[in-house]
Amino acid sequence: MSINSSKAIRCPSCGQLQEITVWNSITVKDSPDLKADLLSGRVNIFKCGSCSHSGLVPAPLLYHDEDKKLMISFSPCDDEQLKQRLFENVRETSKGSGELSGYSGYNLRFVCEYNSLLEKILIFDAGLNDKAVEIIKLLILSQEPEKQDDRFCVFGKKEEDSIEFMVRDIKENMIYTSRAPISTYDTIWQQLRASGVKPYSFDWEMVDAVYADRLIKGINN
Ligand SMILES: [Zn+2]
Repeated sequence: MSINSSKAIRCPSCGQLQEITVWNSITVKDSPDLKADLLSGRVNIFKCGSCSHSGLVPAPLLYHDEDKKLMISFSPCDDEQLKQRLFENVRETSKGSGELSGYSGYNLRFVCEYNSLLEKILIFDAGLNDKAVEIIKLLILSQEPEKQDDRFCVFGKKEEDSIEFMVRDIKENMIYTSRAPISTYDTIWQQLRASGVKPYSFDWEMVDAVYADRLIKGINN
């Protein structure tokens, strides 16, 4: 069930008070339109009617796709330590309520960035697993190690025989396109599966660059 609430939010730029619908839960089956709004960056984004300032509403959101057996818990946060605490909270709350038993075969993801939420939805919609995709992102960035610190790589789209990625360089202020063959994805995914990585979750997981780095080291060992 998709759940929302109405909140009065003060514009951080001009101080104008404005009513906004805040979504706390989106169930794709009930609300396909809402998913489309989310993917176009219109859910929980505040737009001031007075000064047109826009920004993310600091509210957690649970995304649930029953058909794809995908659940993403999004808690907006840009502090590393707080992120870890929020992640542990989500894990403990789930364990305490026993709700995970109802989600066997699911992929359960925890994210703190709006863009990561959208990226994960697109990855699973393309029939891919984000664990292998995160490894490819690291491999792409490692091709130019001296620029790695200034670059972000994000999933773009799956094409017939390749996967497109966008590489943003904040120093050069440029966006590059990079492609990886589907065969690379397949090989990595097979290696992950062979090393014991499951195509579903037993608990909430944070699948990011740190996670992918640990996986690579695990495979190489
Ligand atoms: Zn404003």
